[in-house]
Amino acid sequence: MKELFPTAPAPIVHNQYQEVRELFSRYVVPSYGRFELAFSHGAGSYVWDVTGKRYLDLGGGIAVTALGHANPEITEALIEQSRRLVHVSNLYFHGPQGRLAQHIVKHLAPGKVFFCNSGAEANEGLYKVARKFGHDEGRFEVITAINSFHGRTLGGIAATGQDKVKKGFEPIMPGFRHVPFNDLDAVREAISPATVAVLIEGIQGEGGITPARADFLLGLRQLCDERKLLLLVDAVQCGHFRSGRFQSFQRVLEDVQGAAGFLPDGISMAKSLGGGFPIGAFWLREPYQDLLGPGTHGTTFGGTPLGCAVANKIFEVIERDGLVNNVRTLGAWLKGELDRLGQAYPNVVNGGRGLGFMLGLELQPKEQIAAFAGSDRAASMQMADRLHEAGLLLIPSGTQIVRLLPAYNLTRHQAEEGIQILESVVRKLAGA
Ligand SMILES: *Cc1c(COP(=O)(O)O)cnc(C)c1O
Repeated sequence: MKELFPTAPAPIVHNQYQEVRELFSRYVVPSYGRFELAFSHGAGSYVWDVTGKRYLDLGGGIAVTALGHANPEITEALIEQSRRLVHVSNLYFHGPQGRLAQHIVKHLAPGKVFFCNSGAEANEGLYKVARKFGHDEGRFEVITAINSFHGRTLGGIAATGQDKVKKGFEPIMPGFRHVPFNDLDAVREAISPATVAVLIEGIQGEGGITPARADFLLGLRQLCDERKLLLLVDAVQCGHFRSGRFQSFQRVLEDVQGAAGFLPDGISMAKSLGGGFPIGAFWLREPYQDLLGPGTHGTTFGGTPLGCAVANKIFEVIERDGLVNNVRTLGAWLKGELDRLGQAYPNVVNGGRGLGFMLGLELQPKEQIAAFAGSDRAASMQMADRLHEAGLLLIPSGTQIVRLLPAYNLTRHQAEEGIQILESVVRKLAGA
C-alpha cells in the first residue's frame, strides 16, 4: 500500500481554545452535546487540537474521512476541479456527476443514482421513491427498525426508531412503523395494506454496531417480493467499503448459500462517499430507476462538479491502493484485539462488535465500572473523555459502546498504537 506523506503541522501560535469556545457559546445554536475539544488541523489519521496536542483519530469524523485528514490527493482534486467549474446547477449536464453515477452503478447493478448533500437527504429521497411507488394503490408506510438512525430531518426523525430524536418535535410525520431489528416475523406482522417499503441499515451504527444477519436479509428480500414492497438499505454509515465490501450486505452475505443474487431496491449513501466533502446519493435498481421523473425531486447543490470530482477521486484511490484489503485485514485484527480486551478485562469490556472498519467496543454497564458509577454521563461518554485525555478519538454509540470508524488507509502501526492507548485506559478502569 502506498504511504501518503503527512503534511507538516502548522506552528502553534497560541492556545485558542477559550476564544473558540466563547464564539460557540455566544453564536452557535447549542444543538450538539460537544466534547471540550477544538481542533485546528490534521494529517492522515492524526488531528491536532488548538493547544497543539496530537490525537490518533480512529473515529474518522463519524465514518466520513475515508482517506484521512488533509489527504493531498483530495486537496489536489478540489483545487483542480475548482479551477474549472464548481457549480452550474442541475439545469445542466456535466461530466463529474455522470462519471460518479457510473462508478456507483458499476459497483452494484443496473440502475441509476440521484445526488444530494447528506445522509438524511438521501433517505428523504428514498421515502419519496417509496411513496411514488405505492401512490396509486394508496400505499405509503415504511417499516424501519427499532434503534435505527436515519437522520434529523422531520422525515428522518419519523423514520428513526429511537424516541430520543422525536421528543419535542411532535406531531411526527406519519407513515413509519418500527419493529425489532433482525426479526423477520416482526416485519411480516407489521405489514399493513398501507405498507410500501422496508428500510434498514446494513449495520446499525448509532444504535450500537449491529450487522443485519444473513438470514434476515434473505428473508426480507423474499418477503418484500411476495408483498410487493421495496427493500431499502440505509448505507450512509456502513456503505462505501467500510465493511470491507462496497456494501455491508455484500460482506454479510459472502459465502452464504442462495445469496448470490441478493440486492435491495434502493440504497442511500453519504458520509465516506465524499471523504469530508458533503455529498449524499441514492441508487435505485432497475426497474425503479425512473420512478422520479422530471420535476419530481431536486436540490440546488446535489452532485456539483466539485463534490463529484472529490468522490470520483476517492473511488479511484480506494481501488488503486487496494484499501478494501486493508479494511478487511486490519479490521479483522482490530476486532480480534477488541475481543481480547473483553477477555482480559471482563469487568470493564464486554467484547468487540462489527465488521471491517465499522467496529465497536462494548463496555459493561456503568454501575459495574467503579470509576464511572458516580457520574450521570453514559459509560460510552465517560470512556470517550478518558480516551481523549490519552490522545485517542473514538465515537460513542448509545450508552455502552465506543466506535472505531477509521480511515481506510490506516496503517498497522497506527492500529497498534490505537489498541495500546485503548488498553491502557481499560487497564486503569479495571484497577489492574
Ligand atoms: C449519519 C447517518 C445518517 C444521517 O446522515 P447526515 O449526513 O447526518 O444527514 C443517516 N443514516 C445513517 C445510518 C447514519 O449513520
